[in-house]
Amino acid sequence: MTAADPNSKLTVALLFGQPGVGKGTQGEVLGRIPGLVHLATGDMFRGLDRDSELGQEFLKYSSQGLLVPDELTCRLWKQYVQGLIDTNAYRPQMDLLLLDGIPRSLGQAQTLDQHIDVLQVVHLVCSEEDRLVGRIQRRAEKQGRHDDADESVIRRRLNVYEEETRPVLNHYDASIVEDVDATGLPMQVTQRVLNTLIPAVENRLANPLGA
Ligand code: AMP
Repeated sequence: MTAADPNSKLTVALLFGQPGVGKGTQGEVLGRIPGLVHLATGDMFRGLDRDSELGQEFLKYSSQGLLVPDELTCRLWKQYVQGLIDTNAYRPQMDLLLLDGIPRSLGQAQTLDQHIDVLQVVHLVCSEEDRLVGRIQRRAEKQGRHDDADESVIRRRLNVYEEETRPVLNHYDASIVEDVDATGLPMQVTQRVLNTLIPAVENRLANPLGA
């Protein structure tokens, strides 16, 4: 990946949490703040042409509530980030990249380590699983997300999160992982997220890597 300095890693924050916890809603709002660029891998996959080979491959997994294999996910992610850089939608020297939905497995976390420097992991937390299921079903109706319509598929997604994704939290130093209450008004959640992100960004600006 070519940032201005090809050896430098991309400074990122991770939006982490169970399906339906509100990562997409928060990411969309936060991505409108100058200096923050939101990249959701779910959106990246849904943007594929459904009739293409990759689009079909994505549907094969997502329709069952499963993760797309790591190799394909990381390859597409790299291409996608490069596209954002090439079109100036993301300027690595100036913007903080907010990753939503990746890494979702330890394999992905290890691959991404070669490319990213994680400033902060924002772990959105909601302890009521039924509330998450309800949210996902309402979103499926509103956005026509067929992968999310079926309750058994949703429960599978939540299980996959527990088995494959939650362990990723331990991959990062506990000092950069912050639990954020994801309940309440969306704007309250946004405020809490910013309360953890802003000090991390300020701290990095005051103490740049390599200084
Ligand atoms: P999302 O919108 O983040 O809930 O993602 C929708 C679907 O895309 C997931 O159920 C997976 O099938 C796939 N997906 C998104 N991100 C990843 C990822 N990092 N690794 C593997 N599969 C992913």
